[in-house]
Amino acid sequence: MLALRSRRVVTPEGTRPATVVVDGERIAAVEPHDVPFERGRVEDLGELALLPGLVDTHVHLNEPGRTEWEGFSTATAAAAAGGITTLVDMPLNCIPATTSVDALTKKRRAAEGQLVVDVGFYGGVIPGNADHLEPLIDAGVLGFKAFLIESGVDELPHVGAADLRIALPKLAARGVPLLAHCELDLGAPSPSDPRRYRDYLASRPRAWEEAAIALLAELGEATGARVHVVHLACADALGLVAEARARGVKLSVETCPHYLSFEAETIPDGDPRFKCAPPIRERDQREGLWRGLREGLVDFVVSDHSPCAPALKRMAEGDVAGAWGGIAGLQLGLSATHTEASARGFSLDAIARWMCDAPARFVGLAKKGRIEPGFDADLVAFDPEARFAVDRRAILHRHDLTPYEGLTLRGAVRATWLRGERAYDARVGSWSFSRVRGRILA
Ligand SMILES: [Zn+2]
Repeated sequence: MLALRSRRVVTPEGTRPATVVVDGERIAAVEPHDVPFERGRVEDLGELALLPGLVDTHVHLNEPGRTEWEGFSTATAAAAAGGITTLVDMPLNCIPATTSVDALTKKRRAAEGQLVVDVGFYGGVIPGNADHLEPLIDAGVLGFKAFLIESGVDELPHVGAADLRIALPKLAARGVPLLAHCELDLGAPSPSDPRRYRDYLASRPRAWEEAAIALLAELGEATGARVHVVHLACADALGLVAEARARGVKLSVETCPHYLSFEAETIPDGDPRFKCAPPIRERDQREGLWRGLREGLVDFVVSDHSPCAPALKRMAEGDVAGAWGGIAGLQLGLSATHTEASARGFSLDAIARWMCDAPARFVGLAKKGRIEPGFDADLVAFDPEARFAVDRRAILHRHDLTPYEGLTLRGAVRATWLRGERAYDARVGSWSFSRVRGRILA
């Protein structure tokens, strides 16, 4: 047995001094801090906080098919270094897209033997694949993703309301959520200068997000399905969310560390590292997202780690309009979010709710996301006061291109345990990829 002792153990009842007793893969007990422990080894973390392992339910791992963009081994190693012990992989950017059981089988086969942390999968809803949805649920997908606008890759065409009216009742019958990319193309000016960030922002306006969320809420209401807004950038839409929930719509919302960290006003022109869709909006929207978290209208925070091969970011050209839209930041999400959250008075309890508990509940992982007896011993030793400058050399993603480069972040991951065994330790000089005990979740 192993006992992890800390002055700051972050439990569902609050942060307190405690000893977390680990028996095999599970948390056996949460005991008082100074309790004598003779059943095994005690590791005293002192003032380091002990958090539940993060559950990141929005990641693009891109393997098989676009492994040169990112892959299971590199992304799950970066996850462990970032305090994340569970990832859920999106059905697109890999080839084939996960729109059938056959494609899911190919993906699971590609993942075998490569995982440093646990990984679950989503299926995709596309026009014409309604007959594949129930078999995908039987095969263990944790939810479905659909786009209400072009997805950026040919393998996952977007759906219209008619497609969702067929798909959603099937999902509702099984209690499985639909995760929707919420932008509706209502027309907007194309960028006149491909390098200018303001032009890119204007090409995907707030109204697109609001219209898509209104449509999603309406479809959720009509079918009784659980519907979920991925990567909300537009805080103006939170009024619609509140109204829909008041009507009884099962509507949940996530946002991402980059929308909570950056603001359009200070994003430099010609720097496609900041490009994603929907775009990072103005300061008032960022502050609105923080208000949404405070009020519970935004349910959780996940990475939407979506890297690509570096050439596709068109850094040399500074071509924001032409670059791949997707931000790489998996390893840095906890520190980035804690940096901004602590500056606004939020505690580690809030971080654990947004980044561990709520996303685990969302995908039905009953044994993940809490420091509580019976839960998986997925744990993170975190130094909330440490400050560090983001250095590309420390990035374990397949590519080190990230908009966080050079920022000074607050809060550093010191060690990560996956189901009771150490998966990462910053105190060890060289990081080894040999700890591949991650499991495929279904
Ligand atoms: Zn995404």
